[in-house]
Amino acid sequence: MVKQNLLSFLDEEIAALKREGRFATPRVLQGPQRPVSVIDGKRVVNLTSNNYLDLADDPRLKAAAKAAVDSHGVGTAAVRPIIGTMDLHVELERRLALFKGTESALSFQSGFTVNVACCQSLMSDEKDLLVSDELNHASIIDGARLSKAARRVYRHRDMGHLQEILESPQSRAARRRMIVTDGVFSMDGDVAALPELMDLADRYEAFVMVDDAHASGVMGPGGRGTPAHFGLSDRVQLQIGTLSKAVAAVGGYVAGSKALTDYLSSVARPFTFSSSHPPSVAATCLAALDVIAQEPKRLERLWENARYFKEGLKKDGFDTGASQTPITPVMVGDTAKARAFSARLFEEGVFALSIVYPIVARGRERLRTIVTSGHTTADLDLALSKFRKVGRELGLIR
Ligand SMILES: *Cc1c(COP(=O)(O)O)cnc(C)c1O
Repeated sequence: MVKQNLLSFLDEEIAALKREGRFATPRVLQGPQRPVSVIDGKRVVNLTSNNYLDLADDPRLKAAAKAAVDSHGVGTAAVRPIIGTMDLHVELERRLALFKGTESALSFQSGFTVNVACCQSLMSDEKDLLVSDELNHASIIDGARLSKAARRVYRHRDMGHLQEILESPQSRAARRRMIVTDGVFSMDGDVAALPELMDLADRYEAFVMVDDAHASGVMGPGGRGTPAHFGLSDRVQLQIGTLSKAVAAVGGYVAGSKALTDYLSSVARPFTFSSSHPPSVAATCLAALDVIAQEPKRLERLWENARYFKEGLKKDGFDTGASQTPITPVMVGDTAKARAFSARLFEEGVFALSIVYPIVARGRERLRTIVTSGHTTADLDLALSKFRKVGRELGLIR
């Protein structure tokens, strides 16, 4: 007999989540992730995925995945250091290093795990100091918690505050200093102040980790990321990328020096204690890197679409915050209204997710939209007309 009553606290916790509007009820995608997708039985313009370059249903990536199943099987049945490293993983890492312009790269099961692995492995002593932007991704926050280091958080993109922290006696006495920032911030779509940040880092002898989950395949020449965008690729010590967003498969990686990847492949706990990607994933990513290199038009189209959609929203009077990228928030400032906005848009054939406290601060509730290179002008015009209609209904615009 399972003693279910020992879990009765779950009912209370769930009731509390429901009262606070935090109970998750994900919508279900029926079929592939596409610019126009079938979700919960309805065809909608999909402004919610991270499928930036529209590769999630690309025939070349699908063919690569199928071929790898035939040549290498469905799984590795081992962790990387034991016998879970296949030639496809090695080739992917070689190509990722080329893509990022670094000496080396190391892949992980997800963007989440690579962030945890880097923070935990490099900040391994109480005498270390990890300095983090307040709006960094949850995986960086968790990585910091799992590290042994002291932690300081600076106000979002506030380089004066960062400098204050780096000048503090605590920082000066630290054994190592690591500054961590998202390249593109996932909820606001704004970009790290990397040139100023790198100058401070060099001045105070801190090394830097840039999480380019939303920037790899999106920002900079060839989609190489925010350091490349700013011409800083050779100064950023750790460039994190994800294979789960623009690359459309799943996974994460760190690009940097050979010493960095050598060290991590011996000590990083998710690398050492959790099994590696199925070969089909590595093959999919390799095919994606080929397509990204061969079809620069996708990146151009992504940015044209981002500009077009953002301008359209602004023209209608929406507040799109500080976004500079294909992530465009539409500010609402109220949980119930943000949810109603998303629900009404869905009825009208447009899917944009509401983002509320605690993911964003109270008063900063919003819809988050992400356009992809695959949206047509007609898709975006339809979405804009529905935003206008529902925005007026809810009194957000006139
Ligand atoms: C999505 C995201 C991650 C996690 O990447 P996964 O590959 O989905 O685990 C990490 N950092 C940032 C900034 C992200 O947006």
